[in-house]
Amino acid sequence: MNSIRLGGTIGIIGGGQLGKMLAQSALRMGYRVAILDPSGDAPAKATCHTFIHAPFSDFDALKHLCEISDIVTYEFENIDAHILRTLVHDYNVPQGAETVLTLQNRDLEKTAIAESGADIVPYGKIEDGDALKGFVREHGLPVIVKTTTGGYDGKGQMVIESEAELAEMNIPFDEAEWVVEKYLHLEREVSLTTARSTSGQVIHFPLQENLHKNQILYRTIAPSRIDYEEEAKQAVGKIMEAMHFVGVFTVEFFIDQDGRLYVNEIAPRPHNSAHHTIESCSISQFDAHILALLDHPMPEVRQHQQAIMMNLLGDDLDRLEDTLFSQPDWHVHVYGKTGRKPARKMGHVTLLTDDVEATLGHLEQKFIKGV
Ligand code: ADP
Ligand code: MG
Repeated sequence: MNSIRLGGTIGIIGGGQLGKMLAQSALRMGYRVAILDPSGDAPAKATCHTFIHAPFSDFDALKHLCEISDIVTYEFENIDAHILRTLVHDYNVPQGAETVLTLQNRDLEKTAIAESGADIVPYGKIEDGDALKGFVREHGLPVIVKTTTGGYDGKGQMVIESEAELAEMNIPFDEAEWVVEKYLHLEREVSLTTARSTSGQVIHFPLQENLHKNQILYRTIAPSRIDYEEEAKQAVGKIMEAMHFVGVFTVEFFIDQDGRLYVNEIAPRPHNSAHHTIESCSISQFDAHILALLDHPMPEVRQHQQAIMMNLLGDDLDRLEDTLFSQPDWHVHVYGKTGRKPARKMGHVTLLTDDVEATLGHLEQKFIKGV
């Protein structure tokens, strides 16, 4: 049992939009919230009782967060291994250290997924240009090279399409560790968000269909128009047997043009593709995460209506700012980040609909043309 009293404090490492929406769930349920973030104007600074302004590498600051919290979770998964293990040992961090430490390293993550028996795209760890060329000889082009740690939203990734690009490619092997994988011509991307409580209750959200542009999530449709829910659940079942999850996590999948389903990666925290659950489901991914950590029973997920979620990147917001609130059916979330950049996630909108195709057409008009 992990229950804390109403008015107890939930500590969150990371105060971006995920930390903010987690905090909003915790606050609504009657808990206090403490947040640590390196940015003095983090979105979640406005949604907590105590804000600790410190880098994620500041061990003393993280210990302080744990000391003033009854239970601790994270929205930021790249916490140093030694710090995380110590916090888990000394304080109440129900998610533990081992799963997140595996998943913060693409090489360890892919090895663990492959060992679970779920399908993954062929990949290899590469230490130099010869290893990259060797992988290409074996698997062909195109390939995608990714940093082993620290990448998100396509950062630290390079697609190599041709022999000429391969010859010119200058990967900084001395600055980072790299993996390479076969670049698939994707039919679709889908994701399955699951929550598991400390005592083992599991709930699944509807399978989500995700469209990325420039390796950043552009749009999610839930439930997915392509039905792979059973296959995805089976893969997640295998992964859950191999790895110990507590709280909400999302498995991202690729579907190739032959209809094969591959696990891409796993996020052991709330996920952008499940933001629609705030409006579309009987329980949101953020509520589910808090309930799971505190070992309260979670209701079965019922989706009230089909949902479309569009991310608002900086340049979307530039186009849409003046009309954002003129759309009565848009559930608008703006995270409150200062510093708008063209490809930065500034917010999202969710629409509930009975006619996905018609709503998609209408949305594309608005998003692309801003009218
Ligand atoms: P991140 O940690 O940045 O989310 P991902 O590995 O999920 O990294 O890559 C981001 C996106 O880039 C994917 O959702 C997909 O659209 C595209 N992508 C990544 N790897 C591949 C691949 N092997 N084949 C095809 N597309 C890929
Ligand atoms: Mg991803």
